[in-house]
Amino acid sequence: MRIVVIGGGISGLSCAWRLRRMGAEVLLLEAEERAGGVIRSVRREGALFEAGPQSFLLTAALADLIAELELDDQFQLADRRAPRYVVIEGQLRAVPLGPLSFLFSGLISGSTKRRLLAEPFHRTTPPADDESIAAFIRRKFGVELLDRLVAPMVAGIYAGDAERLSLRSAFPSLHSWEEQHGSLIRGMFRSRPSGNSKGRPGGGLASFAEGNETLVARLADRLGDSVRRGVRALALNRVPTGSEGRFEVVCQRGGQREPISAGAVVIAAPARVAASLLAPLVPAAGDLARIEYAPVAVVSGSYMTEHLKAPLNGFGFLVPRAERLRILGTVWNSSLFPGRAPEAQTLLTSFVGGMTDPSAGAMPDEPLYQTVESELRRVLGILLAPRIRFAQRWPQAIPQYNLGHAELIRRVRASLAETPGLHVTGNYLEGPAIGACVDLANRVAEAAAKPAG
Ligand SMILES: Cc1cc2nc3c(=O)[nH]c(=O)nc-3n(C[C@H](O)[C@H](O)[C@H](O)COP(=O)(O)OP(=O)(O)OC[C@H]3O[C@@H](n4cnc5c(N)ncnc54)[C@H](O)[C@@H]3O)c2cc1C
Repeated sequence: MRIVVIGGGISGLSCAWRLRRMGAEVLLLEAEERAGGVIRSVRREGALFEAGPQSFLLTAALADLIAELELDDQFQLADRRAPRYVVIEGQLRAVPLGPLSFLFSGLISGSTKRRLLAEPFHRTTPPADDESIAAFIRRKFGVELLDRLVAPMVAGIYAGDAERLSLRSAFPSLHSWEEQHGSLIRGMFRSRPSGNSKGRPGGGLASFAEGNETLVARLADRLGDSVRRGVRALALNRVPTGSEGRFEVVCQRGGQREPISAGAVVIAAPARVAASLLAPLVPAAGDLARIEYAPVAVVSGSYMTEHLKAPLNGFGFLVPRAERLRILGTVWNSSLFPGRAPEAQTLLTSFVGGMTDPSAGAMPDEPLYQTVESELRRVLGILLAPRIRFAQRWPQAIPQYNLGHAELIRRVRASLAETPGLHVTGNYLEGPAIGACVDLANRVAEAAAKPAG
């Protein structure tokens, strides 16, 4: 019986791909004319702009997917030791990358260093209630580490607010290290790095010569006619047994409505869409609409390298809120990967908005460019405006794993389990990173392919 996947971002595409590889008949419905969701790469005047994610962390499942799709020749891996910076009092300060460099770093004071050193020797127990990342870091290490490093990192990953994000949902391994070992540092040393299959190097920031869109474009290409673009799922009905499918997906293409029958349905669309499709059949799933999404604007500029104070070498920088800048962080694209900017130019991509400054994510183009460019002038000493510009606004960019998230997802999953044949996957469930989306999509594909009772 045909499995219908709703949503053609990386979650839906990789789920459909896995289903196809398992021999299932699969049909993917994507509302837009272009598949890929928030993964979008645009080459303009020789510069390669990433409208969404700038790179991804290579996981075992992603490495396998890249090999299956025969994309090895286009694959790019950034230098793992590329320095990262944080802005403190207007200046770039290197983020220590290892435990030893932490101790010698001027980024944190002696008293925070002493708390870090003492942490493995003071067993602690996490509180029974869900705890925010901010509360956790204050409890274990103090406010300085939170303000200077952790909150900016959290903004860099989730565009989120550390006071509201749940530690156990957003960073489950940190929570379980404390739970199991009474210490983060002991837990970190005891947990083995997750090995990578087929002897590939584990971890590392990666992309493709023509950007991250290569991955989703190749998936859509290989899935061929199984992907129907411009088809929006509007409603989901159960059909009485005995007829062709167990579910009917009511779709809209142009002005036309069309029912599509399905033996099983995987919803790989954002949480609010999953909520509205599922609520009539599984009322508890309506709660998925409560998951907030951070608005983010992505602003890129390709600058003449000679207009910079010095050539840039590294990943980029993050900005603590105390600096009173609107930029959350800036990625130095052309320093990370080759072929990103025209000759003698440097490509930089900044993020503004997020949960702590939502209105910035909605600024019109001109003020957005002015804001980012004047702040980059202050931080990096850039003399003139960029040669080429690009901006993309995502009103609902990244799902927030806020306090109560784990419990909400547990309840929804328990209710869904009572309706065989209905599945959810996507970036609001087990992590927003591309690798996490693919890992989950693979597992959901296996569950969906099993004949349901
Ligand atoms: C600005 C930004 C920066 C990021 N940076 C990184 C990064 O550096 N590294 C990293 O790993 N991750 C990053 N992420 C996160 C990661 O890119 C996303 O979490 C992931 O790509 C989401 O994939 P998805 O398929 O779950 O959702 P989406 O990409 O949102 O795809 C959902 C799809 O469902 C479709 N759809 C919606 N409604 C319907 C309907 N009714 N019927 C049919 N189709 C429908 C949509 O059109 C869309 O194509 C970033 C995200 C953003 C926005």
